[in-house]
Formats: sequence, C-alpha cells, structure tokens
Amino acid sequence: MSDATAKKEERRKFQAIKGTRDILPPETELWNRVEQTAREVFAAYGFGEIRIPDFELARLFEHSIGDETDVITKELYSWIDSPRANQALRRVRAKAIANAYRAIHDDQAVREELFKQAEAGALDTLARANRISLRPEATASVCRAYIEHRMQSLPQPVKLYYMGPMFRREQPQKGRYRQFYQIGAEVLGGTDAPGIDAEVIEMLMTFFDKCGLQGATLYINSIGHNADNCRRGYVAKLKAALGRVKDKLGPDSQRRIDSNPLRVLDSKLESEQAVIATLPHIADHLCDECKAHYAEVKRQLQVRGVLYQENWRLVRGLDYYMRTTFEITAPGLGSQNAVCGGGRYDGLVELLGGPPTKGIGFAIGEDRLILSLQESGKGQVPQGRDIYIAWMGEKAHATAIRAAKDLRKAGFSVELPPLEQKLGKALGQADKLGAKYALILGDNEVSEGLWTLKTLSTGEQTKFTASDLLEFLRQQKNVSS
Ligand code: AMP
Repeated sequence: MSDATAKKEERRKFQAIKGTRDILPPETELWNRVEQTAREVFAAYGFGEIRIPDFELARLFEHSIGDETDVITKELYSWIDSPRANQALRRVRAKAIANAYRAIHDDQAVREELFKQAEAGALDTLARANRISLRPEATASVCRAYIEHRMQSLPQPVKLYYMGPMFRREQPQKGRYRQFYQIGAEVLGGTDAPGIDAEVIEMLMTFFDKCGLQGATLYINSIGHNADNCRRGYVAKLKAALGRVKDKLGPDSQRRIDSNPLRVLDSKLESEQAVIATLPHIADHLCDECKAHYAEVKRQLQVRGVLYQENWRLVRGLDYYMRTTFEITAPGLGSQNAVCGGGRYDGLVELLGGPPTKGIGFAIGEDRLILSLQESGKGQVPQGRDIYIAWMGEKAHATAIRAAKDLRKAGFSVELPPLEQKLGKALGQADKLGAKYALILGDNEVSEGLWTLKTLSTGEQTKFTASDLLEFLRQQKNVSS
C-alpha cells in the first residue's frame, strides 16, 4: 500500500459510529421548524418544557421499562461511572485470576469455576451501585424529576414536554438509529379522566397536521389494568391460547409465551400472522371501568374530530402502560413506519418511589417524522441568503461592513465576502448561494450615498439611500411571508 493510500485509509476510519449520523444544513432547518412547531402547539395546550439529563442510573430504566424488554436486555448503553469502582473491580479480577492459578487443583474446570465466581461477585458488589446508562427514552426520567422536585405539590396535572436524543443499541436500518431523537410530552398527576387521553391525542394530531405530515394514521387500543377481572385475566387466557398453538410460532414468540405473552401480539413475522389472528382480543376481557374509560376516550376523539382506527394488537413495547395505548404511523418509512407511540401509565411514578400518580404521555420519533415529510415533498425549507454584498474598493469595504451589520440586525441573512471580488465573480457567487439580492457597493455608490440593489431573479437594478433600502427590503419580506 502506498503512503498516500494508507493516509486515505486512515482518514476514512474517522466516520460517525454505526447507527449515528450527522444532520447537516439545510436539513437542520427542517428539524428546527418541526421543533418550533412542537413548542408552539404544546404551549397552546399548556405544556412547559423540561430538560432532563442524557444519562441516569441504569436502575431507573431497568426498574421502569422492565427487565424483559429488548430495550433493557439488549439495547442499553451502560458503563460503570466511578474510577474507584473500576479500579476495585480490576483488583478483584486480578486477585481472582491469581487465586485460580495458585489453586492446588490442576483441573482447568475448577480454576474456571473459581474465576467465574469471583467475577460474578465482583460485578455484583461493585458495578450495580454505579452503573449509568444513556437514556433509551425519557418518560422514566420525567417521572424521576416529578418525584425529585415534588411536583405533586404543584397544581395538577403537571404538563411537560421534552425533545432530544435517545440511545438504543438497535440494528440500524432506514428510520432506525442508535442515536435518534424524540419529541415527547407527559401529563402527570390529577385525574385519569378520558378527556385527558383524548386531549393529548388531539394535540398530537394537531402537531402532525401543522408540520404538514400527510397520511398519518392513528391507532388506538386499551390494554386495561392489572387485575384478575381485567388484563391479568386476559393474559392468562392469552397464555393458554398461545400454549395451544406454540409449535406454529417462532422461537422468539415461543419464549415470550412465558416471559411476556402480550408481546407476541407485537410480532411482525409473516409466518405468525394467521395464528395471531385467532387469539382472544383484550377488548372482550376488559373490566367495566376500563371498558367505560375506553368508550369515553373514543367518544371524545369523535367530538374533537380526531379520526382513529382500533387495533387490538397494539400493546406497546414497554411494561408500564395501562388502559389507553396509541400509535401513529406515517407513509414513506418502510417497515419502521411508527412515528409516535404513547399511552397511559398510572402506576409508574409510584413504582419509582413517588406517590400514586396518574400519567399519560407519548414520544414522537423525530427522525422518522422528518423522513416522512421529506418523502412526501413537505420537507422543503426556504434556503439561501437574502442579500449578497458585492463590494469593490477600500472605502466601499468599510460601508459594506456597516451595511451588513445593520441588515443582519434587522433580521436579514447577509453574506459579506471577506475579500474583494470583481463584480461578475461576486454576482456568480451570489447566485450559487441562492441569494435573492446583490447589494452592489463601489466607490461611486459610496460617494453618491446611493446604493444599487440587484434583484437576482429578474436582473432589475434600483438605487436606494441606506434607509430607503432597509424600508424596501422590509416591505418585500412582509409581502413574501
Ligand atoms: P418508543 O419509545 O419505543 O415507544 O418509541 C417511540 C417512537 O420513537 C417510535 O414510534 C419511533 O418513531 C421512535 N423510535 C424508537 N426507536 C427508534 C430508533 N431506534 N430510531 C429511530 N426512531 C426510533
């Protein structure tokens, strides 16, 4: 390999890590627009922003999301966050190795067993207390914050929204990343009246509508509550039914029959669909209160003009949901077509050590929302500068610097070339940058106090005094916005 090729190879090594990516201008403009829309819509419904840390104790997620979920067992990014614990761990491991080899037994199996025991002990005692994880979602953190800041003493419910990156070690594909972005909201405390569920869903659909998302479909379901005459009873029946068709299911679903039978309903495996279609439906096994709650959510969605489809298989991937669950899909996303998931989670705050607290929330997958907007041609954002300043000569340079400052202060996007250019080159550059106008400043313009403004789309040129120019540009901006 030649030196040059080796260097090229070396440079290629520095790429964004699998499942992560850079989001560049002008696409970032679209992200900002979506986030701004969320801020405006959520504020109109009385939500305030919460900013939570990107990492928390691993236990917070394990406790709330559930040990049986993929998010916890396979996808969490965790590490031991204490140099002392790490050091102690290394010491214990070194000692274990020394002990194992010093052991009088020559037997490899005995040595390995000794080592394994020491290793397990060390991990147990040291690591657990200090394990930290990058957040795979934000609901647990928001509930933790609600408890930590005693928000139950504020007027209830407390309505919070957040936006930011989440981290899951998933297999990357279109619309699925290891660092992805969610925009979410939670309503905590107060009542679990169906009006809250319906209003949260109405807000979501309003947001998607304002973003220009077309073809979004809202699916809803109720998974009842954890009691024998409700979900627990249903799960027992489901388990029995699954037991009868076990040999027609794949290994993942077979395993879930015992660990988490509801998750079998999540299966996307083609070969399992016909079997799943024959399983009992939860709607037929809800208790009277949950049935009435669900009926009222649906009625209120109708009153609000929110269209929905019922999907009895919508059980959501996370353990803490109860009663209302919902998901929104959007076109143009292939198999990863869910842009939002949410539901009610009345027991979660209590599970995390807080007072009994009602809760409902959702998380929108921002990456997927953006993809869907782009695929449907709704992802365009106005690009390019307003004004390119073509200056020629030292005197004109000083005027151009001041003009750029004033125009930027007035809210225009201005490109001021750092070096003098010939007029032709400057106009070419202005064109490439998509500028609307070129402000031409030469010695004549400066001494006359009349500046030339060229409209690049028409080639039309007009002379203005500095203040008339600002006025003209302001008027044009108002006309176009
Ligand atoms: P969840 O927190 O799993 O309920 O997910 C809520 C939403 O986040 C989903 O509907 C997706 O739009 C989005 N989402 C979840 N995981 C990923 C991922 N790995 N990459 C991109 N978006 C994701």
